[in-house]
Amino acid sequence: MNPLSWIDDELLALSQKNLHRRLMVREGAQTARLSIDGRELTNFGSNDYLGIAADPRLSQAAAEALVREGWGSGASPLVTGFASAHQRLAQRLAEFEETEAALAFTSGFAANVGAIASLVGPGDAVYSDSKNHASLFDGCRLSRADVRVYPHGDCGRLAELLEKSNRYRRRLIATDGLFSMDGDLAPLTELVELARRYEAMLLVDEAHATGVFGLHGRGVCEHLGVEHEVHVRVGTLSKALGCIGGFVAGSRSLIEWLVNRARPYVFSTAAPAASAAAAIAALDIVRQEPQRRKKLLDRSRKLRADLQAQGWNIGPSASQIIPLVVGKPERAVSLSMKLREHGLFVPAIRPPTVPDGESCLRISLTAGHTDEMIATLLAALAAK
Ligand code: PMP
Repeated sequence: MNPLSWIDDELLALSQKNLHRRLMVREGAQTARLSIDGRELTNFGSNDYLGIAADPRLSQAAAEALVREGWGSGASPLVTGFASAHQRLAQRLAEFEETEAALAFTSGFAANVGAIASLVGPGDAVYSDSKNHASLFDGCRLSRADVRVYPHGDCGRLAELLEKSNRYRRRLIATDGLFSMDGDLAPLTELVELARRYEAMLLVDEAHATGVFGLHGRGVCEHLGVEHEVHVRVGTLSKALGCIGGFVAGSRSLIEWLVNRARPYVFSTAAPAASAAAAIAALDIVRQEPQRRKKLLDRSRKLRADLQAQGWNIGPSASQIIPLVVGKPERAVSLSMKLREHGLFVPAIRPPTVPDGESCLRISLTAGHTDEMIATLLAALAAK
């Protein structure tokens, strides 16, 4: 008997529920157009919100560093992996975020897991929005603190939970700033107030908002004017910045603590210096070309209104992430396939990424989309 045979049964069960997923192969660069599974499609599926993932300035910066320093970084940052490019990136991230210090991780996932699990532990409590990203949830679980999940955006319920939290040594509230599937903003003003009232730490994951929201592109914290009251600000380099990696920005002592205690940082090989060099080039673009985020948010507003006028349920979206909520996974999959016939790539999102009954098509708008591309999408959706 093959001890792994249960996997085939489970995979079959996933297929029967329309929840089996498979990898698709992309050829060439990913821009607003992409070739995937052998087809040329307009890409409404990537998080390259500013349209710079394939910008030659990023690849040029990476290539120069690559020639100078080679590819592999050899060891974890505390051993020999921390290159001068990593130090420059940390400095630039702190300047960008206007914090005392910052630290880049090899992924946003690692940044969340590392930060949460090093801030709370047994005897502490962590409060998590029910729609937080999986990396925040995994950080909560790994921390071994008591995990309290509050209904999405429900500050009243969170206040009740915090009211009963006296027995804990430390408390941490963790939330996405911009929710990755619904595209709505966290109630950060209220969360800041609750954190202050209950002397809790507040962590905001700006993964989808870094480079997009706020006058300088610092995210929803900046947009809502609360950035200096959020103790732990997480971001990614992998979405609007078109690179790879994640970061935490905050006080000098916070960053010093993470360097010592964040396990995905301490026990994992550092990213190549070339990757840090590309991220610095991306930060330059965010600073020098604010028109990209302005254009993106203006267009997102218009697309949301046009989709609602067509009768689509876009949930609470208030951003460049616009779900078309259709309910059942099979409906999301068939709609996604139909759009593909119109030359459009719009991924179907199903449980476990979204809760049961909330399967959707997730439209992700970028600054690289042309008016014609958006018009084609609307025309195809009007025909459904
Ligand atoms: N946070 C959120 C809200 C995300 O959506 C994601 C990725 N989808 C991450 C963190 C992880 O970031 P990365 O892809 O850089 O690991």
